Amino acid sequence: MDQQRFGDDPLAVRDTDHYKAEYVTGFVEKWDELIDWKRRYASEGRFFIDQLKERGVRNVLDVATGTGFHSVRLVEEGFDTVSADGSPEMLAKAFANGLDFGGHILRVVQADWRWLNRSVHGTYDAIICLGNSFTHLFSERDRRKALAEFYAMLKHDGVLIIDQRNYDALLDGKYGNKHTYYYCGEEVSAEPEYVDEGLARFVYRFPDRSEYHLNMFPLRKNYTRRLMREVGFQRIDTYGDFQETHQGEDPDFFIHIAEKA
Ligand code: SAM
Repeated sequence: MDQQRFGDDPLAVRDTDHYKAEYVTGFVEKWDELIDWKRRYASEGRFFIDQLKERGVRNVLDVATGTGFHSVRLVEEGFDTVSADGSPEMLAKAFANGLDFGGHILRVVQADWRWLNRSVHGTYDAIICLGNSFTHLFSERDRRKALAEFYAMLKHDGVLIIDQRNYDALLDGKYGNKHTYYYCGEEVSAEPEYVDEGLARFVYRFPDRSEYHLNMFPLRKNYTRRLMREVGFQRIDTYGDFQETHQGEDPDFFIHIAEKA
């Protein structure tokens, strides 16, 4: 699929199943080319790896593999990793990236989070859902269903890590409605084009002047935490950004680390 299709009324597209039509090949390829993995490694540092190692994690299920950045990193760090995603195009790209970056053969499985254990088997010490992916679920029912599947596939003392954009700041007007996030210097930008309590529509602009959109559900930080607690997680720690954030400054991202025991 080469073109994104949002129809006549893009603001009405508030549908969990639409994610596959949003990650079209051109968008994915460009993103991967420009947001080079070395820089991403540098900005994340060892945050996730340390969190997992501190807990003695051995096997990990990456449920939002995308183009494979975290899966490859995990394999390199010696974790026994399974890479799932609902999009076959993404998994194909992830598999190719695994080979290109270190000759790794990723174990990829196509699976939608809402019916995860139809296709993914076994239990895991950790599940990761990173890169602002959980935001693609548009109904509370879908979010609860996905979290319940994640919970069920974790071992009794397993850990779930979900990150998300700081939508509170956007919804509460702290960034204004036109805050631009730059990636790779100023080469790639992401700007909220429209925000209400049920939709955050972002436009992504690339140096060749191409533009792509994503329609996402603006998760409030405490709402995500509440859902995780209600599904059964006992302890939830939320961090701002990967590194320390300066006091008084709003982080761009939150990372929730939820423990089952
Ligand atoms: N984690 C990767 C990263 O950080 O580069 C990819 C993030 S990408 C923003 C979100 C991914 O979530 C996409 O690959 C998409 O196909 C996947 N996704 C979205 N909704 C999903 C669902 N309901 N079930 C399975 N995968 C889903």
